[in-house]
Amino acid sequence: KGRLEFCDVSFAYPTRKEAPIFQNLSLLVPAGTVMAVVGPSGSGKSTLVSLLLRLYDPDAGVITIDGHDIRDLNPYWLRSHIGTVSQEPVLFSCSIRDNIAYGAVDPDTVTSEDIYRAARVANAHDFIQAFPKGFDTVVGEKGVLLSGGQKQRIAIARALLKNPKILALDAENEFLVQQALERLMEGRTVMIIAHRLSTIQNANAVAVLDQRCIAECGPHTELLGNRQGLFRKL
Ligand code: ADP
Ligand code: ADP
Repeated sequence: KGRLEFCDVSFAYPTRKEAPIFQNLSLLVPAGTVMAVVGPSGSGKSTLVSLLLRLYDPDAGVITIDGHDIRDLNPYWLRSHIGTVSQEPVLFSCSIRDNIAYGAVDPDTVTSEDIYRAARVANAHDFIQAFPKGFDTVVGEKGVLLSGGQKQRIAIARALLKNPKILALDAENEFLVQQALERLMEGRTVMIIAHRLSTIQNANAVAVLDQRCIAECGPHTELLGNRQGLFRKL
């Protein structure tokens, strides 16, 4: 479960109706697939994730999960079945453990083991008791300065705590690329915004976003030959 489909989606931001981002974009991500989305800067990769989360709705076309139009799904259900990691994860003024716990669908039933397991898979367990730097004055403890990659691992653990069907990753890091894909993604559908060749090589399929639609989609080995220019930049 977790088949994701964009069907004939057209979209322009409300403030920029004259410059549509997508026109009749279609993309199928079969359940259990790790799909890397690549494309030039400004081609709409992040916007694709925003539409999936219903931060905006398409002007035309539909987005479905397992055949259900996401506009018909309860927003709470949607948020609890899609895990997301953005490029700039938000951290709250509490311990990293509690920052991860914040991702729980039902905070009252989440156990310490659940949190630790999610942290382990995301490789964030080493610093789980620490407080993010900057929040140390709040708690009277010395906060640790977290790298961008560590923040993303916390965000991944937070997203995994939901046990989501679909993971939408608008961020990459060494960990994700080098060791996580198979462990993290087991049995899940993943849409990852890819900026690196190594991510693409770990994905089952690649979708190339260009000219307001998906220009090509298929195994990376085929696309690498066709799109030398694009991939050389990665
Ligand atoms: P990518 O992730 O591929 O770099 P984005 O989805 O971030 O592309 O952006 C696609 C286009 O939409 C860009 O031209 C960007 O400036 C524009 N854009 C992004 N967010 C907004 C917004 N909230 N309002 C208006 N335009 C936006
Ligand atoms: P970002 O995408 O910048 O990391 P989000 O606001 O999307 O930050 O939240 C990060 C994680 O926390 C996501 O997994 C999101 O679904 C979850 N989350 C956001 N708001 C809530 C909320 N009110 N209750 C529970 N979880 C939430």
